Amino acid sequence: MTQAPARTPVARPVIAIAGLGIESSTFSPARTEAPAFHPQRGEEVLTRYPFLAAGEPLRAAAEWHGALVGKSLPGGMVTAAAFAELSEELLERLAALPALDGLWFDIHGAMTVEGLDDAEALLLARIRDVVGPDVIVSTSMDLHGNVSRELVHGSDLITCYRMAPHEDHMETKERAARNLVGLLTDGGPRPVKAWVPVPVLLAGEQTSTRIEPAKSIYAAVDEVEALDGVIDAAIWVGYAWADEPRNRAAVVVTGQSEEAVAAGAERLARGFWDGRKDFAFVAPTDSLDGCLDAALASSARPFFVSDSGDNPTAGGAGDVTWGLTQVLARPEFQSPSGPTVIYASVPGPSAVATAVAAGVGATVTVTAGAEVDDRHAGPLTMTGVVHAIRHGDRDARTEVVLRVGSVYAILTELRKPYHLEADFTGLDLDPRSADLVIVKIGYLEPELYDMASDWLLALTPGGVDQNLVRLGHRRIRRPMFPFDADMAQPDLSARIIAASCDALGGADE
Ligand SMILES: [Zn+2]
Repeated sequence: MTQAPARTPVARPVIAIAGLGIESSTFSPARTEAPAFHPQRGEEVLTRYPFLAAGEPLRAAAEWHGALVGKSLPGGMVTAAAFAELSEELLERLAALPALDGLWFDIHGAMTVEGLDDAEALLLARIRDVVGPDVIVSTSMDLHGNVSRELVHGSDLITCYRMAPHEDHMETKERAARNLVGLLTDGGPRPVKAWVPVPVLLAGEQTSTRIEPAKSIYAAVDEVEALDGVIDAAIWVGYAWADEPRNRAAVVVTGQSEEAVAAGAERLARGFWDGRKDFAFVAPTDSLDGCLDAALASSARPFFVSDSGDNPTAGGAGDVTWGLTQVLARPEFQSPSGPTVIYASVPGPSAVATAVAAGVGATVTVTAGAEVDDRHAGPLTMTGVVHAIRHGDRDARTEVVLRVGSVYAILTELRKPYHLEADFTGLDLDPRSADLVIVKIGYLEPELYDMASDWLLALTPGGVDQNLVRLGHRRIRRPMFPFDADMAQPDLSARIIAASCDALGGADE
């Protein structure tokens, strides 16, 4: 066994924070530009993380420097110009910092950029060119990110969330930062990294860690992490709505012992592979009409339906009108005395402007949606009463509610995910007393999940169609489950990845 040499402990290491985060679908016609990342720079970066607030132990343990951190809502591919602009500024800011001991690379891991593959690994390689090969890099990711051999090579520590929905997102970032500080202040050897790519690509909505098999598969992460010689262990589900060779599940275990990290990584990879056929959607699925029929026949209230194909938090354009068009066509909802339906949401800037000008209580005819993704239904024209108007939302900017029959349709200036009860109550809507709440979402976020008396997931069309096999991937590695359902047992042996200061060997298999 080889053991990397010990390094000199650093009493108070100098650490930079940098990263760009987005989950972007290559199956959506939408494009993402630089302002969508809401980039933060310098000291402002530290305000993103409660555990780096003044007085927190981790803040005092190192000299932290924000370079540039930007996070966008999921969306379409990032334009080449936006990536160039953001990454160049990030690199310039890093170059202007004092000599670094460490770097925390805070990313999502599913950013696709026009004309590039594996954008995060490319960005990290450029960062390495600026900061040097000896800087210890800790990478934190979403479990829906993708982990190529190159990304592991450039990182010394690499980890991701262990819960979906991501209730542990801040805990994960804190762990990445804490392990980095610990490694630098202890002066321990560079970690050994065991990587296992797993040829499985699943929809996020099939991999909730609230239910089996993901629940048990992820429970094993803690057990592996607790082993002697292991610092961190992580399983990535990967991102299904982009079409690059790197898109697939992966496992990385980092630590001091090559034997321990290899055995741990192989155990986790085997667990994921063995469970592949048991991953089911988090809720019963049906067509949208099937879901509406079931909801109307049920006495459970409020009854939630996920309109999942255009989920903006997975990378859908968010302006697909197909779902709302179907809902408005249902005879049950034509009269104001019909079952109360809340529908969230369709962007339509001109519709919002018309409703705002007319004011609450006015009857308007407006057209919304399908400006970006018109592949499934065209712009939707509807006549209704303006029920509410709200200004100032970070994502939507201005939101209006239009009541059409018994349907309260939320229209926004820009696309916005609806995840919180306050997203509705702020619009004078009470989802708890509604009959049906239809949201462009996959699995319900915690507040909605707690509120829902029953819930169905509608398999609707859009840029993040949950029916992966009909999307038309062409560049992912094959064989891949479930595209090649009867594929042979893959090689799930651990690949030990060299430290970034050494040459990267091995094929990306
Ligand atoms: Zn995610």
